[in-house]
Amino acid sequence: MHVSTIIGDKGNAVYTIEPGQMLSDAVNVLCEKRIGALVVVSGAQVEGILTERDIMHALHKDGGTILSRPVRDYMTSEVMACKMTDSVDYIRSLMTSQRFRHMPVIEDGLLQGMVSIGDVVKSRIAEVEAETDALKSYIASG
Ligand code: AMP
Repeated sequence: MHVSTIIGDKGNAVYTIEPGQMLSDAVNVLCEKRIGALVVVSGAQVEGILTERDIMHALHKDGGTILSRPVRDYMTSEVMACKMTDSVDYIRSLMTSQRFRHMPVIEDGLLQGMVSIGDVVKSRIAEVEAETDALKSYIASG
């Protein structure tokens, strides 16, 4: 299975925020949209990623004042992105080894979607269920 299958199923919405916006804006979007990560952009340029975990670490480090600090102070600037043609197995191993749960899909510099570890697990379960059903039919037919 490829990333394009996941994006085809869930759609290509990607929630973004600008580096100069406040962390309180990020918290609002994360909670209202019930998501775990925002891609930080300046125009079409991807500048970073900010996840709920970054906000937790920021709170631990700097306390409640973080809400009025800019997103750029707490985002991760080196974003690992994937492509539509990448296999889901490949991005699952990257997410596991790098210990993150979100991967933007970027093609030709343009954001095409966001894949979360939840999407990856869901697609793997669907694959295993399909394989089990095929095996059951094969056994029943013999
Ligand atoms: P997460 O598990 O996705 O909440 O992220 C854990 C840490 O990895 C946070 O510091 C994120 O900013 C960072 N992170 C998440 N996704 C990515 C990514 N695709 N590329 C680089 N860093 C990431």
